[in-house]
Amino acid sequence: MSDQSFDYVIIGAGSAGCVLANRLTEDPKVNVCLVEAGPRDKSPLIHMPAGFIRMLFHPTYNWMFMTSPEVNMKDRPTFVPRGRTLGGSSSINGMIYMRGHRRDFDEWAELGNNGWGYDDLLPYFRKAEHNENFKDGKVHGQGGPLNVKYLESPNKMNHVFMEAATSLQRRPIPDFNAGDNEGFGIFQVTIKDGKRSSAANAYLKPIMKRPNLTIMTGVQVNRILLENGRAAGIEFKQGGETRRIAARREVILSAGAIQSPQVLMLSGIGNSEELSKHGIAVQHSLPGVGANLQEHISAPVHFMSPRSTSYGISLASLPKIAWNFIKYGFGRKGLLGNNIVESGGFIRTKPGLDRPDIQQIFVPTHQGKPGQLLAWGHGYRVTCVVVRPKSKGTVGLSSGNVGDPPKVHFNFFSDPDGEDMETLVRGLKDARRVLAAPAFDHYRGAAVWPPDSVQTDGQYRDFIREFSSTVFHPVGTCKMGRDDMAVVDDRLRVRGLSGLRVVDASIMPTITTGNTNAPTIAIAEKAADMIKADARSQTEARTA
Ligand SMILES: Cc1cc2nc3c(=O)[nH]c(=O)nc-3n(C[C@H](O)[C@H](O)[C@H](O)COP(=O)(O)OP(=O)(O)OC[C@H]3O[C@@H](n4cnc5c(N)ncnc54)[C@H](O)[C@@H]3O)c2cc1C
Repeated sequence: MSDQSFDYVIIGAGSAGCVLANRLTEDPKVNVCLVEAGPRDKSPLIHMPAGFIRMLFHPTYNWMFMTSPEVNMKDRPTFVPRGRTLGGSSSINGMIYMRGHRRDFDEWAELGNNGWGYDDLLPYFRKAEHNENFKDGKVHGQGGPLNVKYLESPNKMNHVFMEAATSLQRRPIPDFNAGDNEGFGIFQVTIKDGKRSSAANAYLKPIMKRPNLTIMTGVQVNRILLENGRAAGIEFKQGGETRRIAARREVILSAGAIQSPQVLMLSGIGNSEELSKHGIAVQHSLPGVGANLQEHISAPVHFMSPRSTSYGISLASLPKIAWNFIKYGFGRKGLLGNNIVESGGFIRTKPGLDRPDIQQIFVPTHQGKPGQLLAWGHGYRVTCVVVRPKSKGTVGLSSGNVGDPPKVHFNFFSDPDGEDMETLVRGLKDARRVLAAPAFDHYRGAAVWPPDSVQTDGQYRDFIREFSSTVFHPVGTCKMGRDDMAVVDDRLRVRGLSGLRVVDASIMPTITTGNTNAPTIAIAEKAADMIKADARSQTEARTA
């Protein structure tokens, strides 16, 4: 017996879930229940862009998963932060707005996914966006919910980085988001009036009062209920009781690339072997659930600095920090309204590539230890990211209980030709060249990573195994496609079932060349249109 029923039940109020909740409730005749495991996004640190430093490790708003030991990284488990609040990961992310390269989406279409090429997705990138700087209308959007802009006052060190890149004849790029992102520049960010433009702030807050939208927080869905091959609703525990909500039209799973496969598997949908290991009865065999996990892997080139120009905590910077708290408190201005990861570039590290294979993110802070964003002292680094990785991992279960974290294994550097590792070696060598340019002479202190002793390719590889880390862009675990390992079709319907879609970063068949929030939001915008169109044609078929 169900306690309540809705036309659509959306699991997860992250980047994708917030978009869907907004678009589907545009029709007042349709009602929607949005169910989120985390709490409301109340902390001011979520909304203040520089609060990103804290959100990366905030146990209330971040699931803070760890992988199993990564065999090619000296058996180190790696950190997998994921948002756990309204807005999901867009409420804890670095706010870089990066759509990716046009080839990324054309490749999805070439894999047989009709309607997913760059030209098909461009209208949805535009629909989502309100761009404060680009008003051409052809590439960028005006009037959309997601605010995109250049920071008014990025940290000065970003300009030093740009000067260094230019001195090496790197191509300055006027716009990273026009289809080809090769080049160097200041990033566009998802910030509005000094506040994070999370999916919750952009899509949910303005429509919270719609009578046809119910938002439940603090509710972790145990499983999707199946009846005769159709998703009939969801089940969760509340106050020690098992509760159910029925979906009259569809259940839409938007729990992200780590937890969407978890929820499917807990519902008996997935790889039979994996399910039986945990005593879960197979309802629908789909071997691809949790497979095809892709993630960007990175390693840093990092220097200390004798100057206090970069962001950092030091006696010299304390008055500046105090002043910036006042400035932010009285008008959301100053450095606390900045997102810390403010410039960078994309390069091709060898001939013959059709798009960049490395992203370099310039971070004007001293890292302290790998994975940290800010520590006592001043420094700067370039994080080199392999943006077209070939290695693939898996998301599995650690038990049949939704309260236990899923088992994540990225399987980094496992591609048979070793290309991921060699790409990162080339990327690090290139970043070292940029940071050795005269523009940095005034700021350069001791090398932290890689230490000066790292010179040969073998030493680089060893350094990478020890110091590489993720940049928090997992995708692909419920991939869209036509082959046996595909989980959803190109209308994002779970193959072989009815009334169930997956809409989030997990449906990407291949990872995009850059950060993954903007493409996830565009996916959800497109999915909303497809869901509405399918509902219309079902009604027409019934009345015909
Ligand atoms: C620290 C960090 C930094 C990043 N930086 C950037 C950046 O600068 N730029 C960029 O473009 N991208 C960035 N990303 C990536 C980007 O934010 C994500 O790709 C994007 O938000 C993914 O959206 P999603 O909808 O797939 O999942 P999410 O936004 O993660 O949403 C999933 C939601 O589902 C909820 N949920 C999970 N399981 C259940 C359940 N069983 N029941 C109910 N609810 C559930 C979760 O709590 C979460 O709210 C970053 C990510 C992180 C974590």
